[in-house]
Amino acid sequence: MDENAIGDIVVVGGGAAGWMAAAALARHLGKNRKIRVVESDEIGIVGVGEATVPHIRTFNAQVLGLDEADFVKATQGTFKLGIQFRDWARIGDTYYHGFGSVGQDLGPVPFHHYWLRARGAGRAQDYCHYGLQSEAAEQGRFMPPASDVPATSPLANIAYAYHFDAASYAKYLRGYAEKLGVVRHEGKIVQVSQRPDDGFIDAVVLESGERIAGDLFIDCSGFRGLLIEQTLKAGYEDWSHWLPCDRALAVPCATTEAPTPYTRCTARPAGWQWRIPLQHRVGNGYVYSSRFVSDDEAAAALLANLDGEALAEPRPLRFITGKRRKFWDKNVVAVGLASGFMEPLESTSIHLIQMSIVRLIDMFPDVGFDPGLVERYNRAVDFDYDRIRDFIVLHYKATERDDTPFWNHCRTMSVPDSLQENIDLFRRSGRFYRDGEEFFAMQSWVQVLLGQRIVPEVCHPIVDQMPEEEVFKFVEHVGKVISACAQAMPPHQAFIDRLCKAP
Ligand code: FAD
Repeated sequence: MDENAIGDIVVVGGGAAGWMAAAALARHLGKNRKIRVVESDEIGIVGVGEATVPHIRTFNAQVLGLDEADFVKATQGTFKLGIQFRDWARIGDTYYHGFGSVGQDLGPVPFHHYWLRARGAGRAQDYCHYGLQSEAAEQGRFMPPASDVPATSPLANIAYAYHFDAASYAKYLRGYAEKLGVVRHEGKIVQVSQRPDDGFIDAVVLESGERIAGDLFIDCSGFRGLLIEQTLKAGYEDWSHWLPCDRALAVPCATTEAPTPYTRCTARPAGWQWRIPLQHRVGNGYVYSSRFVSDDEAAAALLANLDGEALAEPRPLRFITGKRRKFWDKNVVAVGLASGFMEPLESTSIHLIQMSIVRLIDMFPDVGFDPGLVERYNRAVDFDYDRIRDFIVLHYKATERDDTPFWNHCRTMSVPDSLQENIDLFRRSGRFYRDGEEFFAMQSWVQVLLGQRIVPEVCHPIVDQMPEEEVFKFVEHVGKVISACAQAMPPHQAFIDRLCKAP
């Protein structure tokens, strides 16, 4: 091995981020390298990340090679086709952000322009009825993509993610990683040792006095950022002026209902409430701004809006939305909550963990810490964060609500220029253009823009010059195809039962 080579990797933290990192590194770069995970039972994990986006399937199946049924059983998982938003633009509104595509492409112009024209003439249903994921979600149906239908059928292209118990996922990945030789050290890190010449970290020291040395450290220590912030002082960009929620209360409740194949996000007077169905319980939480509601009022609002009996006391969590100024500094790469946090409105945290790990594997510093490589890594993660931030801020900004001081604040706050430009362009012309490789697809943006009542009065000139009956017939046809496809899918619960009972 080169003298600069990375032989010892130390992952600090054993939450979802730590075990996802350890598992993936062990599988892809574990040969001739020692990988250790340090975690403290006393400190524990956040463990409330329960809703995901479809890319988790790539991580589980392709990066780790996990068996889906085994994973779903181990984590009490359910399937997710999108998110239902209630009361966001106006009280009484409901819309879906379904995964995957909406409608059908007909030439170069996206489907929503046809929908806009038909809607303008009163000839269209709500936009969500033209996306199979949203339509099936509303009907409580689920199945993975079918292989026995034409490749162009919506049934062959179903996009889905999971809801799962995050603590069970961390445990499951721990078992996986340990089988690949990862060594776990339990104990609290009380000291971080740096090389005197360049400030690189050379070891962490546990309360017991044990010293764990390494060449590369993955900081998965959660909000505290033990290495990246407390030791290296990478800095933090605070986004609370755009994302004002700073606290959450999480509580599981019992349920007798079949799990919905979607996450529900309901706007509340000073934030919003999540509802995430697992096989054995429902996860709930109120994400709120402490400037606009007290903890007691938030707890009362949460407990008054559960489907069943609360199974624990509401668990408080505090956070500051934002990102680290550097995600990789010296020989430390921050992953998970240690790298930043945007609230869970679009279930992006676990996705950002996965993106960071896959990038790190791609940009692995096997021949030393090349500043050019580190700079490229930081730039790429920075871009991921900024574009996801804009998408989340959109949900708050694009509201008509003026019924509480919180919603008045959100409606009237200034937002990043990049977001304001996108909103203005869409409102004027129905056009939306994605920036480069940004995570959320145009179809995601359009569903949320329309769902939040930013509905352009015009459509693309290509659609505008078509005979109107042709446009109406096309939109009607797409609606019928989507409805028929949704009807062909089994109930979500029946699919889970079949999957989990299979040997
Ligand atoms: P943690 O779970 O906090 O783990 C930190 C680890 O570091 C622990 O093992 C701890 O013991 C260890 N540690 C810390 N300090 C020391 C020390 N001194 N010595 C030794 N060990 C130490 N994500 C989603 O994708 N979907 C969601 O729906 C979602 N919902 C969320 C809701 C809320 C309210 C919050 C706050 C987060 C949510 N997330 C969600 C984010 C998700 O919970 C996290 O991204 C995920 O759990 C990863 O956390 P982590 O591993 O980075 O940190």
